Amino acid sequence: MKLNIDVAIIGGGTAGVAGALDLRKQGLTVAVFERHKIGSQASGVNYGGVRQQGRNTDELPLSKRSRELWEQLPNLIGSNCDFESTGHLKLARSEKEMEDLEQFSKLAAKHKLEIELLDHRSLRDRFPVLGESVIGASYCPSDGKANPRLVAPAFGRAALKAGALIFEEEGVTNALHSSTGFLIETEKGRKVYSRVLVNSSGAWGDTVAGWFDEHIVLEVKNPNMFVTAPMPYRLKVNIGVSGADFYVRQTDRGNLICGGGFGISDRQASLSRPKLDVAQETSARLIDIIPFASESMVIRTWTGIEGFMPDSIPVIGMSEKIPELVHAFGFSGHGFQLGPVVGEIISELVTKGSCSLPIKPFNINRF
Ligand SMILES: Cc1cc2nc3c(=O)[nH]c(=O)nc-3n(C[C@H](O)[C@H](O)[C@H](O)COP(=O)(O)OP(=O)(O)OC[C@H]3O[C@@H](n4cnc5c(N)ncnc54)[C@H](O)[C@@H]3O)c2cc1C
Repeated sequence: MKLNIDVAIIGGGTAGVAGALDLRKQGLTVAVFERHKIGSQASGVNYGGVRQQGRNTDELPLSKRSRELWEQLPNLIGSNCDFESTGHLKLARSEKEMEDLEQFSKLAAKHKLEIELLDHRSLRDRFPVLGESVIGASYCPSDGKANPRLVAPAFGRAALKAGALIFEEEGVTNALHSSTGFLIETEKGRKVYSRVLVNSSGAWGDTVAGWFDEHIVLEVKNPNMFVTAPMPYRLKVNIGVSGADFYVRQTDRGNLICGGGFGISDRQASLSRPKLDVAQETSARLIDIIPFASESMVIRTWTGIEGFMPDSIPVIGMSEKIPELVHAFGFSGHGFQLGPVVGEIISELVTKGSCSLPIKPFNINRF
């Protein structure tokens, strides 16, 4: 089995399939290789937070562009993937946390990201579902939520319709570079020749980079999640806390989706498991912050496999060692919101070798 294409993409999470769609629009031949199913790893099991506030400010230009694309999903991929601009509250539980939120709001203003600071009283007036322990918050009205189960598959279907080749359950076992381009080998014995290779392999991004002698430290973490049975719909806004150790949103059907802390995983086997003691701690926080949740019932817990970089921002950019190798991985727990823009960036890097957004801070060489 042999295949000759312009661009081979390793990894069918949102980053990879969004990249494939944009590359097809530029007229290039593209194939995505996904070891499991499209969107079956972090892209499909995450919390569904579409959040700009609270990010490293280097990410804000990308995050703002991605927010524009979230609005355009129906045109781009034929579905809004349950995206809703609900607003996002970041809560402070101490004076120190409130100072951190104030500090971030000043930095966000420089990026023209609208954020409103709320003291205890105005917060409780506007969001009476909140408990007494919260002393204030920052509110970003343009943030929201979406259904992670829908997003990568919808990008994948759109890419397929646009002419991309998508190979599911076909992991890439090795890739080599020579003067004629890349030779990629898959676990099904396929040999693929491409001019460009995109490494969008998520928490496995360091392995692929390592094939080209780009050795970096990536830590695997597993955000611990649970969901309750439906309750009356009382929480429209998406909620997180300063320090990011707790987050909750309510679906239109009434389920509370809640996360905090970390589970465990075996990355080699692509298996992950949530931890009950962590879920217990998170549920205590949930009841403290949203007292009405005390009457809810947990129906499922889960986690996923996510790659965290030492500075908690991703690797995005051209390889420093190999021409025509593009990296986009290690989104450090907040790459769902960035997915749409990462597709555009991958495409721009492949077609121009550079990017109009400021991606220098994400260079693989920074470590
Ligand atoms: C539980 C959880 C909650 C989260 N909550 C949020 C949130 O609310 N908001 C937010 O913005 N972000 C969140 N994130 C982070 C976000 O989900 C990820 O940053 C994002 O989905 C990463 O997308 P990706 O395409 O880079 O990686 P992935 O979705 O992991 O895709 C990479 C793919 O590459 C494949 N792959 C790897 N190696 C190979 C190979 N050799 N051959 C073929 N295929 C390969 C994998 O199977 C995988 O499907 C969360 C993550 C988790 C796990």
